[in-house]
Amino acid sequence: MTDVVDAPAAVKPINHWISGRAYAGQSGRSGPVFNPATGEQSGAVDFATVEEVDKAVQAAKQAFPAWRATSLAKRAELFFTIRELFHEQREELAKFLTREHGKVLSDAMGEVTRGLEVIEFCCGLPHLLKGGMTEQASTGVDVYSIRQPLGVVAGITPFNFPAMVPMWMWAPALATGNTFVLKPSEKDPSASFFTAELLKRAGVPDGVFNVINGDKVAVDAILEHPDIAAVSFVGSTPIAKYVYETATKNGKRCQALGGAKNHMIVLPDADIDMAADAAVSAAYGSAGERCMAVSMVVAVGDAADPLIDAIKLRIPKVKVGDGMDASSEMGPLITREHRDKVASYIGADDGATVVVDGREGLSDDGGFFLAPTLIDDVKPGMKAYEDEIFGPVLGVTRVSTYDEAVRLINENPYGNGTAIFTRDGGVARQFQFEVQAGMVGINVPIPVPVAYYSFGGWKNSLFGDRHIYGPEGIDFYTRSKVVTARWPDPATSQVDLGFPQTR
Ligand code: NAD
Repeated sequence: MTDVVDAPAAVKPINHWISGRAYAGQSGRSGPVFNPATGEQSGAVDFATVEEVDKAVQAAKQAFPAWRATSLAKRAELFFTIRELFHEQREELAKFLTREHGKVLSDAMGEVTRGLEVIEFCCGLPHLLKGGMTEQASTGVDVYSIRQPLGVVAGITPFNFPAMVPMWMWAPALATGNTFVLKPSEKDPSASFFTAELLKRAGVPDGVFNVINGDKVAVDAILEHPDIAAVSFVGSTPIAKYVYETATKNGKRCQALGGAKNHMIVLPDADIDMAADAAVSAAYGSAGERCMAVSMVVAVGDAADPLIDAIKLRIPKVKVGDGMDASSEMGPLITREHRDKVASYIGADDGATVVVDGREGLSDDGGFFLAPTLIDDVKPGMKAYEDEIFGPVLGVTRVSTYDEAVRLINENPYGNGTAIFTRDGGVARQFQFEVQAGMVGINVPIPVPVAYYSFGGWKNSLFGDRHIYGPEGIDFYTRSKVVTARWPDPATSQVDLGFPQTR
């Protein structure tokens, strides 16, 4: 967690958003927000108290009855307005990401666009909320199912997608008639505050969407709050597990998405240049701070040497710099501590070979930079293999056969994304059949599902039984009710103590 500091006077205060307006925190606690490209503190974000979390929950609770009663036609119309406004403001939103997260502006625009797709999916909410109907299930009896919102729901989000991951949550939650409390990452919270302003401008009623900033105090207050019906979480695995266990112990529905160690298999028959392009893009894009980043390439047989050569050729061409500079392709890491932790993996494992060292040639001008790094001969048991490094460090492990490669993935405790590069359709299909991961790419390195499918990993990459956004997102934020109805002639009515049977 970010250290708690007193807010210096020169930096921008970042408040909560409760009941349609900014709410300056009263706790006296705040956390620093940096521009990772310069290393300078740009903001101080309020850390909420338990009472302030309750204030946001009460605002959401008050707004719920009118919001759930709003007709689907009106809610859908509002979602079209939301879509238009976010589309119009996408560059403004993206700039918040570059300023506080550090990712380059083109990548930030990509994040916003992928989030917008979830909003677009939600514009079809009347269709998504359709139930089923059976006429004449028994004589004169009809049966139908309806979907209803849960009430106040909360989202707790990570630093690495400050706009898109909240959209994965608030868009389907609001579309299905819930009201929402968001607890964004304290490292880059401004995108969430801007989101709240945009939703208000679009016409979302006060209290339907609230933002509470903070640390563990705020998270625990959410997990224990009796008026919150469900919690969506995205973040690291230990916290995901904690959130899932605590939320469910407190009677809440919970989906908690965790960390990852994504392997990309390259078979000897693959197009090596294409595989190298994919590995470099997926390992170093967003400085490797993506839960779907490729962090291990598994080179099978003869693929290894030419693949490593091809990756080595590409690395010096990756332009590392301030994300606001249009020529930059890779920005800094989120904090100095994180950058130093990532760098500590370089050269730490005996037996592994550092092919390209990203620490070299970097001037320490204050930004949290680390250039692309490539480590060969990484093996299970080594730190660089076991840990989710979450930075621009790509490991290569060499194996002899496809079976060995798949075994590595299936034995890994994470199961978020994986990919295979090959020209052999039969092997690709076998891979899809047997690999233990939630999202699989075939010649696609970052297989983030489109908005009308759902996103989620297996094993330690997801706690809970529903993936996020798409059809499973709609399912997560609603509960079904089945109605059995008849309209008999009262004259035919009689007492019957037997168990109801269909006739
Ligand atoms: P994190 O787990 O440190 O933080 C996530 C959220 O939990 C933040 O809002 C933070 O304030 C809160 N939190 C942190 N420590 C806490 C504690 N002790 N008690 C209660 N709450 C706490 O994650 P991060 O560093 O912000 O994000 C990076 C991680 O998120 C990586 O592991 C990455 O793989 C994962 N991630 C996963 C997905 C996915 O879809 N599976 C997507 C994005 C990121």
